[in-house]
Amino acid sequence: MSTENSAGRDTGAPAGKPNDDDGAEYVPTGEDRIAERLAALSDEDARQRAEALRAGLEDYELDDEDAALLSDWVEGETEPGNEPVPPVLAVVGRPNVGKSTLVNRIIGRREAVVEDVPGVTRDRVSYESEWNGTIFTVVDTGGWEHDAKGIHQRVAAQAELAVDVADVVLFVVDATVGATSTDEAVVKMLRRKGRPVILVANKVDDLTQEADAATLWGLGLGEPFPVSAVHGRGTGDLLDAVVELLPAESAYGGIIPRGGPRRVALLGRPNVGKSSLLNKLAGSDRVVVDETAGTTRDPVDELVELGGRLWRFVDTAGIRRRQHMAHGSDYYASLRTRSALDKAEVAVVLLEASEVLSEQDVRILQLVLDSGRALVLAFNKWDLMDEDRRVYLEREIDRDLAHVAWAPRVNLSAKTGWHKDRLVPALDIALDSWDTRIPTGKLNAFLGELVAAHPHPVRGGKQPRILFATQPSTQPPRIVLFTTGFLDPGYRRFIIRRLRETFGFEGSPIELGMRVREKRSRKR
Ligand code: GDP
Ligand code: GDP
Repeated sequence: MSTENSAGRDTGAPAGKPNDDDGAEYVPTGEDRIAERLAALSDEDARQRAEALRAGLEDYELDDEDAALLSDWVEGETEPGNEPVPPVLAVVGRPNVGKSTLVNRIIGRREAVVEDVPGVTRDRVSYESEWNGTIFTVVDTGGWEHDAKGIHQRVAAQAELAVDVADVVLFVVDATVGATSTDEAVVKMLRRKGRPVILVANKVDDLTQEADAATLWGLGLGEPFPVSAVHGRGTGDLLDAVVELLPAESAYGGIIPRGGPRRVALLGRPNVGKSSLLNKLAGSDRVVVDETAGTTRDPVDELVELGGRLWRFVDTAGIRRRQHMAHGSDYYASLRTRSALDKAEVAVVLLEASEVLSEQDVRILQLVLDSGRALVLAFNKWDLMDEDRRVYLEREIDRDLAHVAWAPRVNLSAKTGWHKDRLVPALDIALDSWDTRIPTGKLNAFLGELVAAHPHPVRGGKQPRILFATQPSTQPPRIVLFTTGFLDPGYRRFIIRRLRETFGFEGSPIELGMRVREKRSRKR
Protein backbone atom coordinates (compact mmCIF):
# COMPACT_ATOMS: atom_id res chain seq x y z
CA MET A 1 0.00 0.00 0.00
CA SER A 2 1.31 3.40 -0.83
CA THR A 3 1.40 5.81 2.05
CA GLU A 4 1.93 9.50 2.04
CA ASN A 5 4.96 10.70 0.30
CA SER A 6 6.80 13.12 2.49
CA ALA A 7 7.45 15.07 -0.62
CA GLY A 8 8.26 18.66 -0.77
CA ARG A 9 8.29 20.68 2.33
CA ASP A 10 9.62 23.60 0.34
CA THR A 11 12.50 23.93 2.65
CA GLY A 12 15.59 23.31 0.68
CA ALA A 13 16.58 19.71 0.52
CA PRO A 14 17.20 18.13 3.90
CA ALA A 15 19.54 15.20 3.58
CA GLY A 16 17.86 11.85 3.33
CA LYS A 17 14.79 13.21 1.67
CA PRO A 18 14.99 12.13 -1.92
CA ASN A 19 12.58 13.59 -4.46
CA ASP A 20 13.32 16.98 -3.07
CA ASP A 21 16.22 17.96 -5.15
CA ASP A 22 15.72 16.17 -8.41
CA GLY A 23 14.31 18.30 -11.15
CA ALA A 24 14.01 22.03 -11.43
CA GLU A 25 10.75 23.77 -10.80
CA TYR A 26 8.13 23.26 -13.47
CA VAL A 27 7.94 26.30 -15.74
CA PRO A 28 4.43 26.96 -16.99
CA THR A 29 3.73 28.34 -20.43
CA GLY A 30 1.31 31.16 -21.03
CA GLU A 31 -0.60 33.45 -18.76
CA ASP A 32 -3.34 32.46 -16.41
CA ARG A 33 -6.01 34.28 -14.47
CA ILE A 34 -6.19 32.03 -11.48
CA ALA A 35 -6.34 34.79 -8.89
CA GLU A 36 -9.21 36.54 -10.71
CA ARG A 37 -11.15 33.36 -11.21
CA LEU A 38 -10.75 32.42 -7.58
CA ALA A 39 -11.93 35.83 -6.49
CA ALA A 40 -15.03 35.44 -8.62
CA LEU A 41 -15.94 32.12 -7.06
CA SER A 42 -18.28 32.28 -4.09
CA ASP A 43 -17.41 30.33 -0.95
CA GLU A 44 -20.55 28.27 -1.37
CA ASP A 45 -19.67 27.32 -4.94
CA ALA A 46 -16.16 26.42 -3.87
CA ARG A 47 -17.49 24.30 -1.05
CA GLN A 48 -19.86 22.44 -3.34
CA ARG A 49 -17.17 21.77 -5.88
CA ALA A 50 -14.87 20.41 -3.19
CA GLU A 51 -17.66 18.23 -1.89
CA ALA A 52 -18.14 16.73 -5.34
CA LEU A 53 -14.40 16.00 -5.61
CA ARG A 54 -14.44 14.51 -2.15
CA ALA A 55 -17.34 12.25 -3.12
CA GLY A 56 -15.40 11.14 -6.19
CA LEU A 57 -12.69 9.77 -3.89
CA GLU A 58 -15.09 7.01 -2.84
CA ASP A 59 -14.13 5.24 -6.07
CA TYR A 60 -10.53 4.92 -4.86
CA GLU A 61 -8.79 2.56 -2.49
CA LEU A 62 -8.37 4.48 0.76
CA ASP A 63 -6.75 3.32 3.96
CA ASP A 64 -7.64 4.19 7.55
CA GLU A 65 -5.25 7.11 7.65
CA ASP A 66 -6.83 8.54 4.49
CA ALA A 67 -10.22 8.22 6.09
CA ALA A 68 -9.00 10.03 9.20
CA LEU A 69 -7.59 12.85 7.09
CA LEU A 70 -10.81 13.17 5.16
CA SER A 71 -13.10 13.04 8.15
CA ASP A 72 -11.35 16.16 9.40
CA TRP A 73 -12.19 18.24 6.43
CA VAL A 74 -15.37 19.79 7.86
CA GLU A 75 -14.92 23.55 7.86
CA GLY A 76 -14.60 25.43 11.11
CA GLU A 77 -13.41 22.51 13.16
CA THR A 78 -12.03 23.14 16.63
CA GLU A 79 -8.66 24.76 16.83
CA PRO A 80 -5.85 22.46 17.82
CA GLY A 81 -3.62 23.26 20.76
CA ASN A 82 -5.94 23.18 23.74
CA GLU A 83 -5.38 19.63 24.83
CA PRO A 84 -3.50 19.10 28.12
CA VAL A 85 0.26 18.66 27.90
CA PRO A 86 1.40 15.26 29.22
CA PRO A 87 4.09 15.26 31.91
CA VAL A 88 7.69 14.68 30.86
CA LEU A 89 10.14 12.03 32.04
CA ALA A 90 13.79 12.68 31.21
CA VAL A 91 16.25 9.78 31.08
CA VAL A 92 19.79 11.01 31.69
CA GLY A 93 23.17 9.50 32.40
CA ARG A 94 26.59 8.77 30.97
CA PRO A 95 27.03 7.10 27.59
CA ASN A 96 26.66 3.32 27.61
CA VAL A 97 24.88 2.99 30.94
CA GLY A 98 21.83 1.69 29.08
CA LYS A 99 19.58 4.73 28.70
CA SER A 100 18.31 3.82 25.26
CA THR A 101 17.74 0.23 26.28
CA LEU A 102 15.72 1.48 29.23
CA VAL A 103 13.76 3.89 27.05
CA ASN A 104 12.92 0.99 24.78
CA ARG A 105 11.61 -0.90 27.78
CA ILE A 106 9.56 2.05 28.91
CA ILE A 107 7.97 2.74 25.56
CA GLY A 108 7.59 -0.98 24.87
CA ARG A 109 8.98 -0.67 21.39
CA ARG A 110 12.25 -1.22 19.65
CA GLU A 111 12.48 2.28 18.35
CA ALA A 112 15.24 3.99 20.25
CA VAL A 113 18.27 2.70 18.47
CA VAL A 114 20.76 0.97 20.73
CA GLU A 115 24.25 1.47 19.49
CA ASP A 116 27.07 -0.78 20.45
CA VAL A 117 29.41 1.35 18.41
CA PRO A 118 30.86 4.15 20.48
CA GLY A 119 31.11 7.55 18.89
CA VAL A 120 27.73 7.53 17.23
CA THR A 121 25.79 10.70 17.76
CA ARG A 122 22.08 10.39 18.23
CA ASP A 123 19.69 13.23 18.59
CA ARG A 124 17.74 13.94 21.69
CA VAL A 125 14.45 12.23 21.00
CA SER A 126 11.11 12.12 22.71
CA TYR A 127 8.45 9.44 22.70
CA GLU A 128 4.88 9.20 23.86
CA SER A 129 4.49 6.51 26.47
CA GLU A 130 1.89 5.02 28.79
CA TRP A 131 1.95 3.02 32.02
CA ASN A 132 -1.19 1.88 33.82
CA GLY A 133 -3.26 4.54 32.13
CA THR A 134 -0.84 7.42 32.73
CA ILE A 135 0.32 9.05 29.52
CA PHE A 136 3.68 10.81 29.54
CA THR A 137 6.50 11.87 27.26
CA VAL A 138 9.92 10.23 27.57
CA VAL A 139 12.98 12.20 26.57
CA ASP A 140 16.04 10.16 25.73
CA THR A 141 19.24 12.16 25.95
CA GLY A 142 21.39 9.46 24.44
CA GLY A 143 24.12 10.10 22.01
CA TRP A 144 27.01 12.40 22.17
CA GLU A 145 30.43 11.97 20.78
CA HIS A 146 32.30 9.63 23.03
CA ASP A 147 35.51 11.57 22.97
CA ALA A 148 37.34 11.87 26.22
CA LYS A 149 37.84 15.61 26.00
CA GLY A 150 35.21 17.54 27.89
CA ILE A 151 32.93 14.56 28.22
CA HIS A 152 31.81 15.59 31.73
CA GLN A 153 30.55 18.92 30.58
CA ARG A 154 28.93 17.51 27.50
CA VAL A 155 27.01 14.89 29.40
CA ALA A 156 25.91 17.44 31.95
CA ALA A 157 25.01 20.05 29.32
CA GLN A 158 22.90 17.68 27.30
CA ALA A 159 21.23 16.24 30.37
CA GLU A 160 20.50 19.74 31.58
CA LEU A 161 18.49 20.63 28.49
CA ALA A 162 16.29 17.61 29.04
CA VAL A 163 15.98 18.20 32.76
CA ASP A 164 14.80 21.76 32.17
CA VAL A 165 11.60 20.52 30.56
CA ALA A 166 11.17 17.43 32.73
CA ASP A 167 8.78 16.81 35.60
CA VAL A 168 10.65 13.71 36.78
CA VAL A 169 14.19 12.59 36.02
CA LEU A 170 15.51 9.06 35.75
CA PHE A 171 19.23 9.20 36.42
CA VAL A 172 20.75 5.99 35.07
CA VAL A 173 24.01 4.63 36.44
CA ASP A 174 25.81 1.44 35.42
CA ALA A 175 25.83 -0.65 38.60
CA THR A 176 28.56 -2.90 37.24
CA VAL A 177 30.86 0.12 36.95
CA GLY A 178 29.73 2.12 39.96
CA ALA A 179 29.64 5.89 40.30
CA THR A 180 32.18 7.76 38.18
CA SER A 181 33.24 11.39 38.29
CA THR A 182 30.98 12.08 35.30
CA ASP A 183 28.07 10.69 37.30
CA GLU A 184 29.00 13.04 40.10
CA ALA A 185 29.01 16.00 37.72
CA VAL A 186 25.48 15.10 36.68
CA VAL A 187 24.40 14.77 40.32
CA LYS A 188 25.61 18.31 40.96
CA MET A 189 23.53 19.62 38.10
CA LEU A 190 20.49 17.65 39.26
CA ARG A 191 20.78 19.09 42.79
CA ARG A 192 20.81 22.58 41.35
CA LYS A 193 17.67 21.90 39.31
CA GLY A 194 15.70 20.50 42.19
CA ARG A 195 13.50 18.17 40.13
CA PRO A 196 12.38 14.83 41.56
CA VAL A 197 15.05 12.27 40.65
CA ILE A 198 14.90 8.48 40.67
CA LEU A 199 18.32 6.88 40.76
CA VAL A 200 18.37 3.83 38.48
CA ALA A 201 21.06 1.20 39.02
CA ASN A 202 21.09 -0.50 35.64
CA LYS A 203 22.61 -3.78 34.47
CA VAL A 204 21.56 -5.57 37.62
CA ASP A 205 20.77 -8.68 35.62
CA ASP A 206 20.42 -11.01 38.59
CA LEU A 207 20.15 -11.10 42.35
CA THR A 208 23.88 -11.47 42.94
CA GLN A 209 24.47 -8.05 41.43
CA GLU A 210 22.15 -6.23 43.80
CA ALA A 211 25.07 -5.56 46.11
CA ASP A 212 26.64 -3.46 43.32
CA ALA A 213 23.54 -1.33 43.24
CA ALA A 214 23.70 -0.66 46.96
CA THR A 215 27.06 1.12 46.63
CA LEU A 216 25.24 3.84 44.67
CA TRP A 217 23.66 5.11 47.88
CA GLY A 218 26.89 7.07 48.04
CA LEU A 219 25.67 9.46 45.32
CA GLY A 220 23.32 10.96 47.86
CA LEU A 221 20.20 10.60 45.73
CA GLY A 222 18.47 8.12 48.02
CA GLU A 223 17.78 4.48 47.39
CA PRO A 224 18.95 3.16 44.04
CA PHE A 225 16.38 1.27 41.99
CA PRO A 226 18.02 -1.92 40.72
CA VAL A 227 16.90 -2.85 37.19
CA SER A 228 18.02 -4.72 34.16
CA ALA A 229 16.95 -2.75 31.13
CA VAL A 230 17.96 -5.60 28.87
CA HIS A 231 15.95 -8.29 30.64
CA GLY A 232 13.18 -6.13 32.03
CA ARG A 233 14.02 -7.04 35.60
CA GLY A 234 12.61 -4.44 38.01
CA THR A 235 11.36 -2.09 35.29
CA GLY A 236 7.70 -2.55 36.22
CA ASP A 237 8.37 -1.43 39.79
CA LEU A 238 10.41 1.44 38.45
CA LEU A 239 7.54 2.62 36.25
CA ASP A 240 5.15 2.37 39.18
CA ALA A 241 7.44 4.73 41.09
CA VAL A 242 7.69 7.08 38.08
CA VAL A 243 3.93 7.30 37.64
CA GLU A 244 3.54 7.99 41.34
CA LEU A 245 5.76 11.08 41.01
CA LEU A 246 4.43 12.42 37.70
CA PRO A 247 1.97 15.31 37.90
CA ALA A 248 -1.23 15.10 35.83
CA GLU A 249 0.02 17.76 33.45
CA SER A 250 3.49 19.00 32.70
CA ALA A 251 4.44 21.80 35.07
CA TYR A 252 7.03 23.08 32.62
CA GLY A 253 4.96 23.21 29.50
CA GLY A 254 6.08 19.88 28.11
CA ILE A 255 8.47 19.42 25.27
CA ILE A 256 6.42 21.73 23.14
CA PRO A 257 4.55 24.02 25.50
CA ARG A 258 1.21 25.16 24.17
CA GLY A 259 -0.85 28.25 24.79
CA GLY A 260 0.36 31.40 26.49
CA PRO A 261 2.64 33.99 24.90
CA ARG A 262 4.06 33.14 21.48
CA ARG A 263 7.41 31.42 21.73
CA VAL A 264 10.44 32.85 19.96
CA ALA A 265 13.92 31.36 19.55
CA LEU A 266 16.79 33.77 18.93
CA LEU A 267 19.31 31.84 16.89
CA GLY A 268 22.59 32.50 15.18
CA ARG A 269 26.24 31.69 15.32
CA PRO A 270 28.42 32.90 18.18
CA ASN A 271 29.04 36.67 18.19
CA VAL A 272 26.32 37.49 15.72
CA GLY A 273 24.61 39.57 18.40
CA LYS A 274 22.01 37.36 20.07
CA SER A 275 22.66 38.47 23.61
CA SER A 276 22.96 42.10 22.52
CA LEU A 277 19.57 41.86 20.83
CA LEU A 278 18.03 40.09 23.79
CA ASN A 279 19.35 42.84 26.06
CA LYS A 280 18.03 45.55 23.79
CA LEU A 281 14.63 43.93 23.54
CA ALA A 282 14.33 42.87 27.15
CA GLY A 283 16.47 45.64 28.62
CA SER A 284 14.59 47.87 30.96
CA ASP A 285 11.32 46.61 29.48
CA ARG A 286 12.02 43.19 30.82
CA VAL A 287 8.96 42.59 32.93
CA VAL A 288 9.26 39.06 34.18
CA VAL A 289 11.93 36.50 34.49
CA ASP A 290 9.96 33.34 34.16
CA GLU A 291 10.53 31.30 37.25
CA THR A 292 8.27 28.40 36.53
CA ALA A 293 10.48 27.33 33.69
CA GLY A 294 13.63 27.01 35.74
CA THR A 295 15.16 28.08 38.97
CA THR A 296 15.62 31.73 39.77
CA ARG A 297 19.30 31.55 39.20
CA ASP A 298 19.00 29.76 35.95
CA PRO A 299 15.96 30.91 34.00
CA VAL A 300 15.32 29.02 30.82
CA ASP A 301 12.87 31.36 29.17
CA GLU A 302 12.27 35.05 29.49
CA LEU A 303 8.98 36.83 29.08
CA VAL A 304 9.48 40.11 27.30
CA GLU A 305 6.93 42.77 26.44
CA LEU A 306 7.18 43.99 22.87
CA GLY A 307 4.61 45.98 20.97
CA GLY A 308 2.26 45.85 23.95
CA ARG A 309 2.22 42.05 24.16
CA LEU A 310 4.17 39.41 26.03
CA TRP A 311 6.49 37.11 24.11
CA ARG A 312 8.33 34.12 25.45
CA PHE A 313 11.96 34.03 24.39
CA VAL A 314 12.93 30.40 24.86
CA ASP A 315 16.20 29.01 26.13
CA THR A 316 17.67 32.40 26.86
CA ALA A 317 19.84 30.84 29.56
CA GLY A 318 21.90 29.45 26.72
CA ILE A 319 22.33 32.94 25.30
CA ARG A 320 23.10 34.64 28.58
CA ARG A 321 25.36 31.96 29.96
CA ARG A 322 28.30 32.43 27.69
CA GLN A 323 30.99 30.06 28.87
CA HIS A 324 29.96 27.37 26.38
CA MET A 325 30.14 29.88 23.59
CA ALA A 326 33.63 30.76 24.64
CA HIS A 327 34.73 27.36 23.38
CA GLY A 328 33.22 28.34 20.06
CA SER A 329 32.08 24.76 19.84
CA ASP A 330 29.71 23.87 17.06
CA TYR A 331 28.55 21.03 19.22
CA TYR A 332 27.03 23.25 21.89
CA ALA A 333 25.73 25.69 19.33
CA SER A 334 23.81 23.03 17.49
CA LEU A 335 22.59 21.45 20.72
CA ARG A 336 21.24 24.75 21.90
CA THR A 337 19.69 25.54 18.54
CA ARG A 338 17.80 22.25 18.42
CA SER A 339 16.63 22.53 21.96
CA ALA A 340 15.36 26.07 21.41
CA LEU A 341 13.61 25.06 18.20
CA ASP A 342 11.85 22.22 19.99
CA LYS A 343 10.19 24.74 22.24
CA ALA A 344 9.72 27.66 19.86
CA GLU A 345 7.03 28.49 17.33
CA VAL A 346 9.08 31.00 15.39
CA ALA A 347 12.82 31.38 14.95
CA VAL A 348 14.61 34.68 14.49
CA VAL A 349 17.86 33.77 12.78
CA LEU A 350 20.44 36.51 13.17
CA LEU A 351 22.89 36.95 10.33
CA GLU A 352 25.77 39.35 10.23
CA ALA A 353 24.99 41.83 7.49
CA SER A 354 28.54 43.11 7.41
CA GLU A 355 30.08 39.70 6.86
CA VAL A 356 29.81 36.97 4.29
CA LEU A 357 27.27 34.29 5.06
CA SER A 358 29.04 31.36 6.71
CA GLU A 359 28.59 27.64 6.56
CA GLN A 360 27.40 27.72 10.14
CA ASP A 361 24.67 30.21 9.22
CA VAL A 362 23.49 27.84 6.52
CA ARG A 363 23.48 24.92 8.97
CA ILE A 364 21.42 26.86 11.47
CA LEU A 365 18.91 27.78 8.77
CA GLN A 366 18.69 24.12 7.79
CA LEU A 367 17.91 23.17 11.41
CA VAL A 368 15.06 25.70 11.36
CA LEU A 369 13.76 24.33 8.07
CA ASP A 370 13.91 20.77 9.39
CA SER A 371 11.98 21.84 12.47
CA GLY A 372 9.00 23.21 10.52
CA ARG A 373 8.97 26.38 12.59
CA ALA A 374 8.16 29.85 11.25
CA LEU A 375 11.18 31.96 10.31
CA VAL A 376 12.26 35.59 10.40
CA LEU A 377 15.68 36.65 9.10
CA ALA A 378 17.38 39.44 11.02
CA PHE A 379 20.38 41.10 9.41
CA ASN A 380 22.25 42.48 12.37
CA LYS A 381 25.11 44.98 12.71
CA TRP A 382 23.57 47.16 10.05
CA ASP A 383 25.44 50.09 11.59
CA LEU A 384 28.63 48.60 10.14
CA MET A 385 27.25 48.56 6.60
CA ASP A 386 28.43 50.70 3.74
CA GLU A 387 27.19 51.03 0.18
CA ASP A 388 29.76 48.62 -1.27
CA ARG A 389 28.89 45.88 1.15
CA ARG A 390 25.18 46.34 0.48
CA VAL A 391 25.55 45.38 -3.14
CA TYR A 392 27.43 42.23 -2.21
CA LEU A 393 24.91 41.37 0.49
CA GLU A 394 22.02 41.55 -1.97
CA ARG A 395 23.91 39.19 -4.26
CA GLU A 396 24.65 36.77 -1.44
CA ILE A 397 21.00 36.79 -0.43
CA ASP A 398 19.92 35.98 -3.99
CA ARG A 399 22.45 33.23 -4.28
CA ASP A 400 22.56 31.60 -0.84
CA LEU A 401 19.22 32.40 0.71
CA ALA A 402 16.93 31.71 -2.24
CA HIS A 403 15.52 28.69 -0.42
CA VAL A 404 14.26 30.93 2.39
CA ALA A 405 13.17 33.80 0.16
CA TRP A 406 9.73 33.45 1.76
CA ALA A 407 11.00 34.58 5.18
CA PRO A 408 10.47 38.21 6.20
CA ARG A 409 13.71 40.19 6.49
CA VAL A 410 14.52 42.79 9.07
CA ASN A 411 17.67 44.91 8.96
CA LEU A 412 18.64 46.06 12.42
CA SER A 413 21.37 46.94 14.85
CA ALA A 414 21.27 45.21 18.20
CA LYS A 415 23.93 47.60 19.42
CA THR A 416 22.09 50.86 18.76
CA GLY A 417 18.57 49.48 18.83
CA TRP A 418 17.95 50.79 15.32
CA HIS A 419 14.88 49.06 13.74
CA LYS A 420 14.33 46.81 16.72
CA ASP A 421 10.65 47.74 16.51
CA ARG A 422 10.51 46.11 13.09
CA LEU A 423 10.84 42.70 14.68
CA VAL A 424 7.31 42.42 16.05
CA PRO A 425 5.52 43.04 12.72
CA ALA A 426 7.77 40.43 11.11
CA LEU A 427 7.05 37.92 13.88
CA ASP A 428 3.32 38.57 13.51
CA ILE A 429 3.43 37.97 9.76
CA ALA A 430 5.39 34.76 10.13
CA LEU A 431 3.20 33.37 12.91
CA ASP A 432 -0.02 34.29 11.11
CA SER A 433 1.20 32.34 8.11
CA TRP A 434 2.23 29.45 10.31
CA ASP A 435 -1.30 29.33 11.74
CA THR A 436 -3.06 29.72 8.39
CA ARG A 437 -5.60 27.22 7.23
CA ILE A 438 -6.94 27.40 3.71
CA PRO A 439 -10.60 26.35 3.61
CA THR A 440 -10.97 23.09 1.69
CA GLY A 441 -13.29 24.69 -0.88
CA LYS A 442 -10.79 27.42 -1.69
CA LEU A 443 -7.87 24.99 -1.78
CA ASN A 444 -9.55 22.67 -4.27
CA ALA A 445 -10.81 25.56 -6.36
CA PHE A 446 -7.25 26.90 -6.52
CA LEU A 447 -5.83 23.54 -7.56
CA GLY A 448 -8.61 23.04 -10.09
CA GLU A 449 -7.80 26.35 -11.77
CA LEU A 450 -4.08 25.75 -11.57
CA VAL A 451 -4.21 22.30 -13.13
CA ALA A 452 -6.63 23.45 -15.83
CA ALA A 453 -4.25 26.25 -16.84
CA HIS A 454 -1.01 24.28 -16.36
CA PRO A 455 -1.60 20.53 -16.51
CA HIS A 456 1.04 18.15 -15.19
CA PRO A 457 3.31 16.88 -17.98
CA VAL A 458 2.39 13.46 -19.35
CA ARG A 459 4.68 10.76 -17.91
CA GLY A 460 4.91 7.34 -19.52
CA GLY A 461 1.73 7.96 -21.48
CA LYS A 462 -0.20 8.90 -18.33
CA GLN A 463 -1.10 12.16 -16.76
CA PRO A 464 -1.27 12.13 -12.97
CA ARG A 465 -4.37 13.91 -11.72
CA ILE A 466 -5.09 15.61 -8.43
CA LEU A 467 -8.31 14.14 -7.10
CA PHE A 468 -8.76 16.14 -3.94
CA ALA A 469 -6.76 18.27 -1.54
CA THR A 470 -7.11 19.00 2.12
CA GLN A 471 -5.13 20.84 4.77
CA PRO A 472 -5.32 18.63 7.85
CA SER A 473 -3.10 20.78 10.04
CA THR A 474 -1.37 24.08 10.63
CA GLN A 475 1.82 25.06 12.47
CA PRO A 476 3.21 24.61 9.88
CA PRO A 477 0.51 24.37 7.22
CA ARG A 478 0.39 20.86 5.86
CA ILE A 479 -1.47 20.15 2.66
CA VAL A 480 -2.21 16.66 1.42
CA LEU A 481 -2.97 15.91 -2.21
CA PHE A 482 -4.79 12.74 -3.25
CA THR A 483 -3.56 11.91 -6.72
CA THR A 484 -3.78 9.20 -9.37
CA GLY A 485 -0.02 9.17 -9.89
CA PHE A 486 3.29 10.50 -8.72
CA LEU A 487 3.62 14.24 -9.23
CA ASP A 488 7.02 15.47 -10.39
CA PRO A 489 9.01 17.22 -7.64
CA GLY A 490 9.34 20.21 -9.94
CA TYR A 491 5.59 20.36 -10.37
CA ARG A 492 5.05 20.13 -6.60
CA ARG A 493 7.45 23.02 -6.14
CA PHE A 494 5.46 24.93 -8.71
CA ILE A 495 2.27 24.24 -6.72
CA ILE A 496 3.93 25.48 -3.53
CA ARG A 497 5.14 28.65 -5.23
CA ARG A 498 1.67 29.40 -6.56
CA LEU A 499 0.14 28.62 -3.16
CA ARG A 500 2.42 31.28 -1.73
CA GLU A 501 1.56 33.79 -4.44
CA THR A 502 -2.14 33.17 -3.96
CA PHE A 503 -2.51 32.74 -0.21
CA GLY A 504 0.53 34.44 1.30
CA PHE A 505 2.35 32.20 3.80
CA GLU A 506 5.16 34.70 4.24
CA GLY A 507 7.47 33.43 6.96
CA SER A 508 6.13 29.90 7.13
CA PRO A 509 7.27 26.67 5.53
CA ILE A 510 4.58 24.71 3.70
CA GLU A 511 4.49 20.94 3.73
CA LEU A 512 2.98 19.33 0.69
CA GLY A 513 2.24 15.64 1.05
CA MET A 514 1.01 13.36 -1.70
CA ARG A 515 -1.08 10.22 -1.48
CA VAL A 516 -1.13 8.26 -4.69
CA ARG A 517 -4.32 6.19 -4.75
CA GLU A 518 -5.67 3.57 -7.13
CA LYS A 519 -9.16 3.07 -8.37
CA ARG A 520 -11.11 0.35 -6.62
CA SER A 521 -11.55 -2.77 -8.68
CA ARG A 522 -15.20 -3.10 -9.66
CA LYS A 523 -17.39 -5.25 -7.47
CA ARG A 524 -18.35 -8.49 -9.15
P1 GDP B 1 23.17 4.57 26.38
O1 GDP B 1 24.39 5.05 25.66
O2 GDP B 1 23.16 5.01 27.80
O3 GDP B 1 21.88 4.91 25.67
O4 GDP B 1 23.28 2.98 26.47
P2 GDP B 1 22.63 1.85 25.54
O5 GDP B 1 21.20 1.66 25.85
O6 GDP B 1 23.03 2.11 24.15
O7 GDP B 1 23.38 0.55 26.12
C1 GDP B 1 24.79 0.45 26.12
C2 GDP B 1 25.18 -1.03 26.20
O8 GDP B 1 24.80 -1.57 27.46
C3 GDP B 1 24.49 -1.87 25.14
O9 GDP B 1 25.43 -2.80 24.67
C4 GDP B 1 23.39 -2.57 25.91
O10 GDP B 1 23.04 -3.80 25.33
C5 GDP B 1 24.00 -2.73 27.28
N1 GDP B 1 22.97 -2.79 28.33
C6 GDP B 1 21.95 -1.93 28.51
N2 GDP B 1 21.19 -2.31 29.56
C7 GDP B 1 21.75 -3.43 30.07
C8 GDP B 1 21.41 -4.30 31.16
O11 GDP B 1 20.43 -4.13 31.88
N3 GDP B 1 22.25 -5.35 31.39
C9 GDP B 1 23.32 -5.59 30.61
N4 GDP B 1 24.07 -6.64 30.91
N5 GDP B 1 23.65 -4.79 29.57
C10 GDP B 1 22.88 -3.73 29.29
P1 GDP C 1 26.13 36.44 20.66
O1 GDP C 1 27.32 35.57 20.83
O2 GDP C 1 25.37 36.07 19.41
O3 GDP C 1 25.23 36.53 21.85
O4 GDP C 1 26.71 37.91 20.34
P2 GDP C 1 26.86 39.20 21.29
O5 GDP C 1 25.53 39.84 21.51
O6 GDP C 1 27.63 38.83 22.49
O7 GDP C 1 27.69 40.15 20.35
C1 GDP C 1 29.00 39.86 19.93
C2 GDP C 1 29.74 41.14 19.64
O8 GDP C 1 29.11 41.85 18.57
C3 GDP C 1 29.75 42.08 20.83
O9 GDP C 1 31.00 42.70 20.88
C4 GDP C 1 28.66 43.10 20.50
O10 GDP C 1 28.89 44.36 21.06
C5 GDP C 1 28.77 43.15 18.98
N1 GDP C 1 27.49 43.54 18.37
C6 GDP C 1 26.28 42.95 18.56
N2 GDP C 1 25.32 43.57 17.82
C7 GDP C 1 25.94 44.57 17.15
C8 GDP C 1 25.49 45.57 16.22
O11 GDP C 1 24.32 45.66 15.87
N3 GDP C 1 26.44 46.41 15.73
C9 GDP C 1 27.75 46.34 16.10
N4 GDP C 1 28.58 47.21 15.57
N5 GDP C 1 28.20 45.42 16.97
C10 GDP C 1 27.32 44.54 17.49
